[in-house]
Amino acid sequence: MGSCGEEKEIIYQSKLPDIYIPNHLPLHTYCFENLSQFSSRPCIINGATHEIYTYADVDLISRKVAVGLNNLGISQGHVIMLLLQNTPEFAFAFLAASHLGAISTTANPFYTPAEILKQALASTARLIITESCYVPKLQPLLADHDIKVIVIDDSVPDGCIPFSTLMSSDENQLPEITIDSNDVVALPYSSGTTGLPKGVMLTHKGLITSVAQQVDGDNPNLYFHSEDVILCVLPLFHIYSLNSVLLCGLRAGAAILIMKKFDIIKLMELVQKYKVTIAPFVPPIVVEIAKSPVVDDYDLSSIRTVMSGAAPMGKELQDTLRAKIPNAKLGQGYGMTEAGPVLSMCLAFAKEPFEIKSGSCGTVVRNAEMKVVDPETGLSLPRNQPGEICIRGDQIMKGYLNDPKATENTIDKEGWLHTGDIGYVDDDDEIFIVDRLKELIKYKGFQVAPAELEAMLITYPEIADAAVVPMKDELAGEVPVAFVVRSEGSEITEDQIKQYISKQVVFYKRIHKVFFSEAIPKAPSGKILRKDLRAKLAAGIPNG
Ligand code: AMP
Repeated sequence: MGSCGEEKEIIYQSKLPDIYIPNHLPLHTYCFENLSQFSSRPCIINGATHEIYTYADVDLISRKVAVGLNNLGISQGHVIMLLLQNTPEFAFAFLAASHLGAISTTANPFYTPAEILKQALASTARLIITESCYVPKLQPLLADHDIKVIVIDDSVPDGCIPFSTLMSSDENQLPEITIDSNDVVALPYSSGTTGLPKGVMLTHKGLITSVAQQVDGDNPNLYFHSEDVILCVLPLFHIYSLNSVLLCGLRAGAAILIMKKFDIIKLMELVQKYKVTIAPFVPPIVVEIAKSPVVDDYDLSSIRTVMSGAAPMGKELQDTLRAKIPNAKLGQGYGMTEAGPVLSMCLAFAKEPFEIKSGSCGTVVRNAEMKVVDPETGLSLPRNQPGEICIRGDQIMKGYLNDPKATENTIDKEGWLHTGDIGYVDDDDEIFIVDRLKELIKYKGFQVAPAELEAMLITYPEIADAAVVPMKDELAGEVPVAFVVRSEGSEITEDQIKQYISKQVVFYKRIHKVFFSEAIPKAPSGKILRKDLRAKLAAGIPNG
């Protein structure tokens, strides 16, 4: 990565040369472009049933499912919702939607009915693919909207369609369509730098560029290769796993071992049984592996790479893990849903590895530009000076769905995406994230948007004003805590407030602590001065 002074701008790029990226193709075509080389190799391994699907199987099934979806009225530009934990059907449905030029919006099945309803309506989902146990949560949505529901398991509730019927469609009936590379293919939700969760429009071109930045090029050992067995335990509804595990794995021709949910013993058994070579994690999983004594009972020597992303991983944790899995290279990636998502990754995976420093998020991906700007002046900063990290390239989002203002506030006129993260680039081109300018709270890598919780708090009659900020937590990284101003005469308690919120939100958005205050500090514009509240917490004087 070299820096070049372009008048005022200091821009960082990868040391790796730019590569040709076939981002005119539809995403599914790109992922299976090298199919003939590995059609009979394992593609998806179901970690629960041990069923193995070859590349040829996955290619065929996704075409069949595409025809099945098309027969149910799904066609180009339509949105389907994948409300699933990690299962092979997630991959089949995502690829099938891509075949049709349709869009997958991904959602956490642990969401409450209200959270699912909000995303389904905002994204205009016409069909939901889920498991039968989550169908009752859809009732508020189905009561007023004509949305089809497909279930992937055998106990099919009334009115739902079994996924197996899609899999038996005639693949020859696949409609011929023209997909523009700027068409949207994935629509995850993220609150970005401010406000409520928004639909992040990721295009065929954007995702292909991001995958290519990670696994294509003249150095195929950079990241994944076809001999690899990649553990897919991180939720596919989050873009980190969807892109950097599933799509990168498919493009590389690797075997993708799907684990429905994290369980340390099952994970160890699967690693040993299938000789997992690549283990993508988030810091809380790394903590558990680093601390759990059961890990010593298993042979983990097959793992050549452990990657961590979605939240910061400190030096101490990296060193502890290194001692547990000494054969593996350990590296961090840095991503943001809107950035497609990968901004930087560790070159330690390259043919000639160089050791990256603990705490570093690696170097910027190729075919992209990065700069670090002073948040006050907007001027780009030299090495070792922290500022807001900005990224530019074909991989970033097209914009937020139906929200041009939020898009404009995130991607400037020159095409720079402003991350809201504070970091710096050091003398060795390595990127360090040191703070967050934006509101976002990250609980075990999951997003919590303060604005969403604040909107709920201030609608409670006994609450006059409220602000939600992150508090450091050893296991989760951060947890949301609330500063609350009671309405006059109110004696509402911390427990009442916590219960009121937990009824409405998924577990990781629950408020962990309430601090009653006289007033919420605000700028003259009305903007909450979150920095002041965070400083109060850090100083241990949150009340008052
Ligand atoms: P998401 O859109 O859910 O992937 O969240 C993106 C945000 O997570 C980033 O903007 C960062 O604030 C944070 N993040 C992701 N990866 C890292 C990392 N390796 N180190 C520190 N923060 C990270």
